[in-house]
Amino acid sequence: MSFVLILTTMSVVRSAEDVAPVQHDNPKVLESTGTNVRQQEKICDDYLVVELTTITHNWWMMKLSGVQGKSLTIGFNMVGKGNVSKWVPLQPVYTYADPNKLSAYEWFAKDSTSGQWRSGNALLPDDQRHAGDGKSPRQSVISQESAEEFLSQNGSYWEPWGRITKTEVAANLNIFRMTTPTFSQDEVWIAMRYPFTYELLQDYINVLYEKRSQNFVIKTIGQTAEKRDLWAIEVKTSRFFLQNPMTLLVYAREHATEPDGSWAILGMLNAVLDGTLEKWPRLVLLPMVDPDGVAKHRYEGMIRTFGAAQSSPESSALQAYMQSMARDGKRPYISISLHNVESNEADNIWMPHADYQRGWAIKPINARIEQFAKKNGYTFTNREPEWTFQGNRFEGWLSRKLGCVDLVYELNSQAKNRLTLQRLQEMGALMVKACDEKLQDGWFDHAQ
Ligand SMILES: [Zn+2]
Repeated sequence: MSFVLILTTMSVVRSAEDVAPVQHDNPKVLESTGTNVRQQEKICDDYLVVELTTITHNWWMMKLSGVQGKSLTIGFNMVGKGNVSKWVPLQPVYTYADPNKLSAYEWFAKDSTSGQWRSGNALLPDDQRHAGDGKSPRQSVISQESAEEFLSQNGSYWEPWGRITKTEVAANLNIFRMTTPTFSQDEVWIAMRYPFTYELLQDYINVLYEKRSQNFVIKTIGQTAEKRDLWAIEVKTSRFFLQNPMTLLVYAREHATEPDGSWAILGMLNAVLDGTLEKWPRLVLLPMVDPDGVAKHRYEGMIRTFGAAQSSPESSALQAYMQSMARDGKRPYISISLHNVESNEADNIWMPHADYQRGWAIKPINARIEQFAKKNGYTFTNREPEWTFQGNRFEGWLSRKLGCVDLVYELNSQAKNRLTLQRLQEMGALMVKACDEKLQDGWFDHAQ
């Protein structure tokens, strides 16, 4: 009896395959590396309700399949998971490329006179950065039939990310809703802001290592509790003739779910490699100080483990590394801790709090950064920082132990003035330029 049943079932399946047109699956949310959104309910084929898998802040990413030819409405049920009233100007980003790989972030700009596209990836040899003079650049990450979807409005900039502009915040219900454009591929990734996963950093470090440049050193300075690597990138100063160049330390992701800071750090390195910065101090760059938190979408992990009461593998590694730098005469004079706020909490750049003991040094640097930012089309929140001392955070430790001038900045690529990947990265370079001027002009020794 069962034998007959199997035969019948098989023949039914076969004949269905023979006659039915190709059917795409219904849209659904998939689990994948770097994502923290799951499907809660399907209202109908083009309306999904989703929820975050973690209580998080400023970060989510989802992967969907079965979306080709469809425009979806996706509602976020955020009860107990966050506060959507902070998301008002948010326009989530989407791509058909794997966001855990570096190739998903290569942007191109078109030269207005020659009409030639050029890749923004400074890790590529110069001759490989030309990308033709077509309507969209020559690239291999997005298929040709979908590429034009990602062109900027004036056609002179391309990145493999589009924006979801139809969004709605129902603050009283704590619901965020978005309606996507009609997707041209079957699988799509949608994120709150440009992602920066641990896997992406691994990919970046590998490519950087392969470049084998004389101008920087990549160091693994320790491991996290879950055995992920903590990387530092040391960049030689442009002023080789100086016997004792000063060091600028920049680190990101002590709040793990705030990816904009990591992008700004890659932008600093990009500007050095690309020669768009004329001068820079010795740079020590830590693109991700809490990789476990990044992997788990956990807002706070190691951040308060630098005081006497608490330690962590990350804080021990960072302290040992900084002590070795100090012994080698390379102690940082200025440190910048990079964070990012939710969409409507501040502009593109903002200093939320500052070390009250170092106001004399922090105020003029902040003024310089404000000036540079505004001059270059970024918005700057000119709100007095809260004057405090964060003794149990890395910045407090750097100030207390190494006499560092410790700056904290909130970045925001999803402010009303939205930033592309290029603009977000260039903002990092601008901060280096402002600090470098202060280090160079003799002001620092005088102020000490
Ligand atoms: Zn933060």
